[in-house]
Amino acid sequence: MAKITINGKIFDVDPELTVIQAAAQNGIEIPHFCWHPKLTVSGNCRMCLVEIEKMPKLAIACSTRVADGMIVKTESDRVIKARQAVMEFLLINHPLDCPICDEAGECKLQDYSYKYSVGYSRFDENKVHKPKRVRLGPNVMLDVERCIMCSRCIRFSDEIAKQPVLTFTQRGTHVVLTTFPDTQLDNKYSMNVIELCPVGALTSTDFRFASRVWEMSSTDSICVGCSRGCNTHVWVRKNEILRLTPRFNEAVNSYWMCDSGRLNTFRTVNSQERLHSPMIRKDGVLVDVGWDEAIARAVSDLKSFKKSEIAGIASAFATNEDNYVFQKVMKEVIGTKNVDYVQHVEDDAGDELLIRADKTPNSLGTRQVGVRPAEGGLDITGILKGIEEGSIRALYVLEDDIAEDPRFAAALPNLQLLIVHASVNSKTARFADIVLSCSTFAEKNGTMTNFAGRVQRLRPAVATLEQDRAKDGFAMSRWDKFASQNDRWGRSVKKDARPTWRVLTAIANALGAKLKCTTAEEVFKEIAEKLPPFKGMNYINLGSQGANANAAESVSKQKVTA
Ligand code: SF4
Ligand code: SF4
Repeated sequence: MAKITINGKIFDVDPELTVIQAAAQNGIEIPHFCWHPKLTVSGNCRMCLVEIEKMPKLAIACSTRVADGMIVKTESDRVIKARQAVMEFLLINHPLDCPICDEAGECKLQDYSYKYSVGYSRFDENKVHKPKRVRLGPNVMLDVERCIMCSRCIRFSDEIAKQPVLTFTQRGTHVVLTTFPDTQLDNKYSMNVIELCPVGALTSTDFRFASRVWEMSSTDSICVGCSRGCNTHVWVRKNEILRLTPRFNEAVNSYWMCDSGRLNTFRTVNSQERLHSPMIRKDGVLVDVGWDEAIARAVSDLKSFKKSEIAGIASAFATNEDNYVFQKVMKEVIGTKNVDYVQHVEDDAGDELLIRADKTPNSLGTRQVGVRPAEGGLDITGILKGIEEGSIRALYVLEDDIAEDPRFAAALPNLQLLIVHASVNSKTARFADIVLSCSTFAEKNGTMTNFAGRVQRLRPAVATLEQDRAKDGFAMSRWDKFASQNDRWGRSVKKDARPTWRVLTAIANALGAKLKCTTAEEVFKEIAEKLPPFKGMNYINLGSQGANANAAESVSKQKVTA
């Protein structure tokens, strides 16, 4: 270890670290634009200049390795003056268009202007003007005037996304970020440059001008686009998700997420196809009904079949809590042995960075909570065959659009009873006799287990009809506090959806069971008491970064400020 002194305090640090890393590890912020913990060092912004004893000039903390006995000052007069000079220099040609810039409110340049600049400019010449709306690729727009030439986006594209298409051209104040001729920024991870960009030069074509940052609430969650389970922030305004952004978790996704997960997974929550309430089939047509009627109909219909004629298909899209209660109700209350789920692995659809071929977020968890046929029961192939041959007459399906598979689509009309938990008007829901409108990943508490066995939390970011954002513990933005919860036509923006495990509990109790759990947290407590992979876990110690089954390690690792 090397003993170094920073601002008068002595620290023992790894001699392989740079000064900026050693300071960050010990809670000392050294401002920086171009340095990022996961990218190579470029050292071009000069914002991290520090004073090091016995060095004649100020040194950049991002590329200076610590040494035993080193004495560093990050707040001396020389350092403060140098930072002010760097800020003044960076702002000379900056358009200062914060009022119309998407980055305002989460902009490093804006924050540092408050913290580290003198608050006025001596520059009274004309600014250099550059292109304002350059489409770098399908998902990213560039405003060249706002670029401070930190090169983070270039290094990300070269080093992480492995698509080296970005570069600088020209010199001095005329430098322009651009793509190489006949190329565009179009890779599976291209949108990560938006958060990496310390200013508003790179913006999302999808989110651009949709909302000011401070009008939205942000809730910690996970992506449900594949079995990686990247950690995310869910950004909501007026009970509608406007964007997902990656959240740091070294054990899962580092600082990144893929464009597909970011752009596609939340569409279901906002979709026009969302079910507004439970439905039952009357005279051949699905009609909206209340929960009591839907549950009573499910109970009476299920009672009219022999146990062996009923099968249940769980879902790797549903939470551990949903699947655990489902297999328990199917096996112990309804009494069928025929319980399984469908896997959704797309061959060759994964890559080496994050994306997994398994397109479900909770396949491992579904198995771990006991979704499998009981002794002598039918697996998924047997269930399909049973429906085709008529031995399975009633099917209960959880949150999976099994009719996307043409074999199921062809077999489902053979059933006498089909009960489906669905959040949208899916193909399977259209075949159903009873549709129970379920809360999406963004509307409920729960856990999912990623491919590597990491159990991670979902938290409600969007309220359903039975919930009140103000009273039920939702993250609140200023907008939530003052805006109506109705859309522009006066309709409620909330859906009449409920968590699957809770509807299943109601059905089971109406069938004579005595299930007691009233919250997802209580269901998880029961899972942790009964099932070894979850031993020792609870909603508190899973924290914001989850835990691995085998280690039950609590992983609230400190994020290194990026
Ligand atoms: S566009 Fe943003 S990330 Fe890229 S060089 Fe400019 S300031 Fe840096
Ligand atoms: S890699 Fe998978 S979990 Fe991560 S953002 Fe993409 S789809 Fe979502």
